Amino acid sequence: MTRIRQQNVTAAQWSSNGGALGAQDLTLPENNPFGQNVFSASVQKERLPQDVFEKLQTTLEGGEALDPSLADAVAEAMKEWALENGATHYTHMFQPLTGATAEKHDSFFEPGGEGEAIAGFSGKELIQGEPDASSFPTGGVRATFEARGYTAWDPTSPAFILENPNGALLCIPTAFASWTGEALDAKIPLLRSMDALSRSAIKALRLLGDEESQRVFTTVGPEQEYFLIDEQYFFERPDLIATGRTLFGAKPPKGHELDDHYFGSIPERVLAFMLESELEMRKLGIPVKTRHNEVAPAQYEIAPIFENSNVGSDHQQLLMQTLENVARRYGLVCLLHEKPFAGVNGSGKHNNWSMGTDTGANLLNPGETPADNIHFLFFCTAVIQAVNKHQGLLRASVANIGQDHRLGANEAPPAIISIFLGAELEKVFEAIATGLGDPNTPASFLDLGAQVLPPLPMHGGDRNRTSPFAFTGNKFEFRALGSSMSLGFPNTVLNTIAAEAIDELAGKLEAKLDGGEEMPQAVIEIVKESYLANKQICFGGDNYSEEWHQEAERRGLKNLRTTPDALPEVLADSTVQAFENYHVLSKAELESRYEVWVEQYWLRANIEAETTFSIAKTMILPAALRYLALIGESGVSAIEGEVRGLVDELVAGLGELEAANADPGLEGLEMAVHARDKQLAAMDNVREAADKLESVVADELWPLPKYEEMLFIK
Ligand code: ADP
Ligand code: MG
Repeated sequence: MTRIRQQNVTAAQWSSNGGALGAQDLTLPENNPFGQNVFSASVQKERLPQDVFEKLQTTLEGGEALDPSLADAVAEAMKEWALENGATHYTHMFQPLTGATAEKHDSFFEPGGEGEAIAGFSGKELIQGEPDASSFPTGGVRATFEARGYTAWDPTSPAFILENPNGALLCIPTAFASWTGEALDAKIPLLRSMDALSRSAIKALRLLGDEESQRVFTTVGPEQEYFLIDEQYFFERPDLIATGRTLFGAKPPKGHELDDHYFGSIPERVLAFMLESELEMRKLGIPVKTRHNEVAPAQYEIAPIFENSNVGSDHQQLLMQTLENVARRYGLVCLLHEKPFAGVNGSGKHNNWSMGTDTGANLLNPGETPADNIHFLFFCTAVIQAVNKHQGLLRASVANIGQDHRLGANEAPPAIISIFLGAELEKVFEAIATGLGDPNTPASFLDLGAQVLPPLPMHGGDRNRTSPFAFTGNKFEFRALGSSMSLGFPNTVLNTIAAEAIDELAGKLEAKLDGGEEMPQAVIEIVKESYLANKQICFGGDNYSEEWHQEAERRGLKNLRTTPDALPEVLADSTVQAFENYHVLSKAELESRYEVWVEQYWLRANIEAETTFSIAKTMILPAALRYLALIGESGVSAIEGEVRGLVDELVAGLGELEAANADPGLEGLEMAVHARDKQLAAMDNVREAADKLESVVADELWPLPKYEEMLFIK
């Protein structure tokens, strides 16, 4: 037996080697670690001079720019708190365009005059950092502007301490920009889009009679899917190490067809991992709530409670990092790739999104009173209009190479963006649009004196798991995100396009009100007009079906199947217009993103193609040849033909792949299309031959852990 085959058998013999948390009395306040490592408002209140604390809070609540004179006092308090909690270093944490999180650590301590070390951390160091921007992708921005970049403290996302067995680190969430102010990260546009949406929504709320709200926040509650496999398998698979997904592997005899995994009882090792990772997350102030097994074997899900988009998005980055780190303490590896195993369900991320006022109202919550319902109908209509107009951009916002293996298959939402309203809400919109009653819609609803508007009987029970964008009772659930993704850009898009649509509808409302129309009646007319113009985007049926693909085509909806098809939407006229009008991203900033994402696509495709070649040539082919020799020795020639045929197929495929991997001398999108049509296609042929070989070559000669081991030994 080869070394690898033997180890595979012992993989599941784990012992609890994590933090051994034990069980604590959770009724004792000191045993509730929530936010323990966060420089939260309550810690700030305790440690900051009162006037500084109050000024800071006022600034944050109003969403205003920060008074730099506060920085020194905040930095001092933050440093003291961090040192008391064992931090020796601090970092400005930021989110470059790769979608990852970046950090550069600086020690608090500097050498003093007489050989001692002095702890220092000034307001300036808190507010601004200067990492070398040239190491991060910037698209065209770097070529046209200076190479330097800087990070700027985001006081709206609290600083926190990351623990490590050997020390601790103060992390300061920051934005990352070029020296001339172009956004080079995911956070700046998100913050700008939240501002834009707030301005539009407040303006609309005033017209709708709300005099109180001062600010509207967008909220996000993500649901994260992931796989856990034994780390031994991971390290034996060069494809998982290099690309995050298996480039080879025959389908296991058992998949999820028995439905015995979804919501099933959680294996002990996995549960131990979940408990410890959730503890770490709670210390960081991430409000984790739900956990369960997912559909595929070895697949799980975790969902925190929603927060404002900025904090929720920062927390999501931390959550992914925590899952990956804690998994290792249990001899597991957490796979966040969208499609780690071919033929097995992939992993997505559901992005629950809504808008809420600073007075506590959820604008997408149909309420108890007629006035609430008028607000709800207005904002919900704006979302429908926005999604229809920018369907291509929404698709592009969730595009990456991992998604291309997933979207459109019979598991994830399709590449066609549509909205599921649910039967009840659709009935309401149809009633308004047609003026026709329905046995279940009170006739008085149609006269629409606001006084007689009934409470809209909406509840979250109405579900359609196949829709990429579903109304779920008091929020929309954008279900097409990939599991490895940052929430930054998809939410930036949602906020920006909603801001635009809210403004358009508010403009019409204002004109009607100025013309002397009554408010509720005017809103209903606007809802009717907009819904009729945009209802093509609404679909309540099975999004996976072939009929829907045909129907969507008849309706003229976009079906952007792959990343190279979708990314040009980032530069579409309608995108540039909306993003420039609302000061979220300039055309140059959009271009830089487009360039970076196109490049990321073909770079990653190329790594996959070269890894495929190397594994097939140096691991799989030798195993097949060894087996052929074994057959030769045995003298049983009947099985030789099949194996030889597959080896020939593999060798031919390798030749093709080698040719496809040669540099074609293309650039940009053409390079991405080449990667998709030539390299990925050639990889498929190599894989097909290799996977067939896996099922005939002697098990003890096979050089890679197999799917049934990786997915089922827990
Ligand atoms: P269920 O799906 O079981 O009905 P919920 O509706 O409570 O559960 O929430 C599902 C997800 O939606 C959770 O991740 C939650 O944080 C998120 N969510 C709930 N309300 C909002 C909101 N107003 N804005 C954004 N996300 C929300
Ligand atoms: Mg969900």
